[in-house]
Amino acid sequence: MSERRRKFYAWGFEDQTATAEEMAPVLDTWHRVFGTDFEVTPAPTLETIEMRAPRITAIPAALTGICRQDRYERALHAYGRSFLDGARMFRGDFTRAPDVVAYPRTEDDIRALLDWAGGIGAAVIPFGGGSSVVGGVNPEIEGDYAGVVTIDMWHMNRLLEVDQVSRSARVQAGVYGPDLERQLKEHGLTLRHFPQSFELSTLGGWIATRAAGHFASNATYIDDYVESIRMVTPQGVSESRRLPASGAGPSPDRFVMGTEGSIGIITEAWIRVLNRPRFKVGATLVFDDYHRAAEAVRAISQSGLQPANCRLIDALEAGHTKAYEGGKPILVLGYESAHYPVDDLLRLTVELCADYGGSPVETSDRPEARSAVAGQWRNAFIRGPYYREHMIARGICRETFETAVPWSGFPELHGSVVRTVDEAIRRVTGRAGTVTCRFTHIYPNGPAPYFTFHCLPDRARMAEQCMEIKVAAYDAVMKAGGTITHHHAVGRLHMPWYVEQRPKLIGAAFAAAKRALDPAGIMNPGVIVPEADIAAWRPVPAEREAVAAS
Ligand SMILES: Cc1cc2nc3c(=O)[nH]c(=O)nc-3n(C[C@H](O)[C@H](O)[C@H](O)COP(=O)(O)OP(=O)(O)OC[C@H]3O[C@@H](n4cnc5c(N)ncnc54)[C@H](O)[C@@H]3O)c2cc1C
Repeated sequence: MSERRRKFYAWGFEDQTATAEEMAPVLDTWHRVFGTDFEVTPAPTLETIEMRAPRITAIPAALTGICRQDRYERALHAYGRSFLDGARMFRGDFTRAPDVVAYPRTEDDIRALLDWAGGIGAAVIPFGGGSSVVGGVNPEIEGDYAGVVTIDMWHMNRLLEVDQVSRSARVQAGVYGPDLERQLKEHGLTLRHFPQSFELSTLGGWIATRAAGHFASNATYIDDYVESIRMVTPQGVSESRRLPASGAGPSPDRFVMGTEGSIGIITEAWIRVLNRPRFKVGATLVFDDYHRAAEAVRAISQSGLQPANCRLIDALEAGHTKAYEGGKPILVLGYESAHYPVDDLLRLTVELCADYGGSPVETSDRPEARSAVAGQWRNAFIRGPYYREHMIARGICRETFETAVPWSGFPELHGSVVRTVDEAIRRVTGRAGTVTCRFTHIYPNGPAPYFTFHCLPDRARMAEQCMEIKVAAYDAVMKAGGTITHHHAVGRLHMPWYVEQRPKLIGAAFAAAKRALDPAGIMNPGVIVPEADIAAWRPVPAEREAVAAS
């Protein structure tokens, strides 16, 4: 829908990729770890991929102008951007691509699309940037639906209003991260919500999935920046009142956040924005012992200090990213403020870390940008999504999962998860791999550990073998008392563990709420509410009822 097209099988736009120069040190690491060279599988092409014919053939005349059914559009919307998705895309498996891709420009368009989909019994998948790593946008729907209509919010991307007095902004949900920041910058403002997927994810997607940005402490989730939400549901529009806070009953915004397209499409939100930071400092510390370093982070999180960045990266991951190759864990720290110098906060934090054996390897007044260790780490982090297609082409599985757990449970969780994944990799792939951990976010009562594993699965079964390892990892996380996700959302992938984790009564209450807002059961079926629960009350569309009766 624009000159510059997104790559249909991988991260980024068609004119973007990691260069050979950039990939050389990355591949060198994995060549050394696995002791082998890698054959390269060519990337899929639109001509070679498998895709069934659209099941929906008649689109109402009023909607044809905003609906697409060509191969590119259907392929682009067939998957999110996890390793599992990538492995299946490289295999050319686009059989379950959506039948129709719609690009609404207005809420009226969305209303018309929902009415039409409800009428024909088609499932609807809201689509922001499509950066889901949990199958949230994948049309893998088992129930008896006429087809799948994916609604891409691409065109609804404008900053509509700024309230400078209250420092809030009204923004359309389909805006991508960089475009949002560009529009806010014209007003001297920023949201500073920088998930790793910032470049290719949207405000609506962040709210729908309760995304977590780069702030390591204090305001971590997008939740903390939402002032009010406007959403179109199959039953009409719901809009909450703009308020700085409200004690009036259960929060309507909290009810909508995290619903992942299962009850409606978020079209706009008022968000709290910030003045742009003027003061920034950072330091990187090295520790002899990982668990002592974790203790230091606990002390920081419980001290009232609220670093913007506080990433504890284990020795292996620091080495893999070439940020620090001294075989020790590192802690990347940063503070920032729009209003006051933050040097003293950093100094206090560094002093506190010294009690746990932490010593600085570098400090900087431009954290991450000019510093060698933190800068290298940041670069590997930001460019990581572009490496993925090159890794998949070479048969290297790089997958992640994340959780949060009370501090008292962290050592056990860390130990058992690393052990379990290590064993699972050997069992499933027949050879050793690697498992690493870093903290993405910290709270006074616990950290959010983020695990990455690398292995060499059987090329023909990359997705299946990776999934087998992930199942072992998820079971271990749950057994150790962690959450199935800190910020990657539920999607289709995490549903079994999410259902286990959430209180049964709350699950039943949410299913009833979905039924009230989405009586035809069309909104992202199988996400948040299991498909089986929807099938219990979903009406058979009138057309098909008539066919069945004849
Ligand atoms: C490389 C990479 C790095 C990532 N890093 C982070 C990170 O640092 N922090 C983090 O939290 N997540 C991260 N993610 C996960 C993902 O980016 C987030 O879940 C993000 O919030 C999804 O936004 P999106 O616009 O891409 O939504 P999509 O992927 O398009 O959709 C995600 C879900 O939200 C629903 N949805 C989307 N838009 C709307 C809407 N307007 N109304 C209703 N429902 C909607 C979809 O139906 C789907 O269920 C990462 C993913 C990748 C691939």
